[in-house]
Amino acid sequence: MRLSRHFLPVMKESPADAQIVSHKLMLRAGMIRQTAAGIYAWLPLGHRVLRKIEQIVREEQDRAGAIELLMPTMQSADLWRESGRYDAYGPEMLRIKDRHDREMLFGPTNEEMITAIFRDNARSYRDLPRILYHIQWKFRDEVRPRFGVMRGREFLMKDAYSFDLDIEGARHSYNRMFVAYLRTFRRMGLSAIPMQADTGPIGGDLSHEFIVLAPTGESEVFYHTNWEVERALDVDVDDVAALQGFVNGLTADYAATDEKRDPAREAAAGDKLKQSRGIEVGHIFYFGTKYSAAMGMTVQGPDGQPVTPQMGSYGIGVSRLMGAIIEASHDDAGIVWPDAVAPYTVGLINMRADDARCAAAADDLYAKLEAAGIETLYDDRDERGGAKFATMDLIGLPWQIVVGPKGLDKGVVELKRRATGEKVELSVEDAIAKVR
Ligand code: ATP
Ligand code: MG
Ligand code: MG
Ligand code: MG
Repeated sequence: MRLSRHFLPVMKESPADAQIVSHKLMLRAGMIRQTAAGIYAWLPLGHRVLRKIEQIVREEQDRAGAIELLMPTMQSADLWRESGRYDAYGPEMLRIKDRHDREMLFGPTNEEMITAIFRDNARSYRDLPRILYHIQWKFRDEVRPRFGVMRGREFLMKDAYSFDLDIEGARHSYNRMFVAYLRTFRRMGLSAIPMQADTGPIGGDLSHEFIVLAPTGESEVFYHTNWEVERALDVDVDDVAALQGFVNGLTADYAATDEKRDPAREAAAGDKLKQSRGIEVGHIFYFGTKYSAAMGMTVQGPDGQPVTPQMGSYGIGVSRLMGAIIEASHDDAGIVWPDAVAPYTVGLINMRADDARCAAAADDLYAKLEAAGIETLYDDRDERGGAKFATMDLIGLPWQIVVGPKGLDKGVVELKRRATGEKVELSVEDAIAKVR
């Protein structure tokens, strides 16, 4: 992509209304624009990152055996009356009437809808176990939308729902998602700690929030320092016993949100106990037959008797993740994208757009990068070198390649790694090989 034809409205100054660094940088880097309180338009650069995050989430859901579908954003109030949540949900639910005066709502989550779909289409025990998921916009009328996409009113969520014949099966589905979440966040360069979280009236221990540590996070969390060490995640998720053993091994190390603190385990952790703030990027939850029973969902069991399926739900804040990644990876000059979610791999800078030799060499290198399938943002604009460097640092692409007259005299270009600032002079061929 040539920057001269792109739509990248970067800002020099930090916008006054943004309080945390990720929000500031997303605005400055021309990734988002607010259109109403807590509602954002995703500009081209932000949209590219959103799609990359979404794709990693999708791949790990698929790998865990979940099946993708797509449910609508608009739901009918009657559906929510079946579970009793229409009245219980409160003012976070945006309620709307259509032209026939029918009560509708913009979905804040989809337990009711997926339960109705599964109820009306699954007949027997052979239809279970299943995990279904979608990646869809949600609306929650948050009292205090803030920190940009971190707490929006409209936001993109991956939500999965599991259906099992018995509690053991439900635990296996839960464990599948547990590992899928760890893999998902790690692929994005994040370390998210699964923390014991509130289960409300359901009880039990099957609720974990996945928390990225950050001083700006809204959750107060407590964890054993063992969580600071990266764990191996190679387990066969189809092997029930091996997977359970793996999850038990991980959760042997204490980690809990402030609603679920355990004084005995904290005492056992001793001086290995840490307190921090964190961002909730995912949440997995087993809730038994709460919705299946309320909504009259049964399937025929192997013995011919009706069985009420056991369910769980599993959310990931896809749009919130973008903020969390930036909170975890930035410096004074701007964003430092982890390779896996970077909007482009390479930022190519022509230092001297007015110099025909430089322009020809940069054009040629751009063509080669594109031909090699390397996602490149080419700054071919007629701007000062300094301004171009500042923009590239701000938008945080993993690699920068600079074409300038001095280098061309020597037959080299300059390659810079954004994360370390390390610069090397290389031939065009070697530079391409390095970023490939
Ligand atoms: P929070 O505690 O931050 O309000 P939640 O517990 O209400 O989140 P869940 O119902 O668990 O959220 O939804 C699943 C995921 O969706 C959360 O873990 C979070 O990553 C994301 N999410 C929830 N609310 C928002 C929001 N207002 N803006 C962006 N992402 C959100
Ligand atoms: Mg909430
Ligand atoms: Mg929460
Ligand atoms: Mg939650």
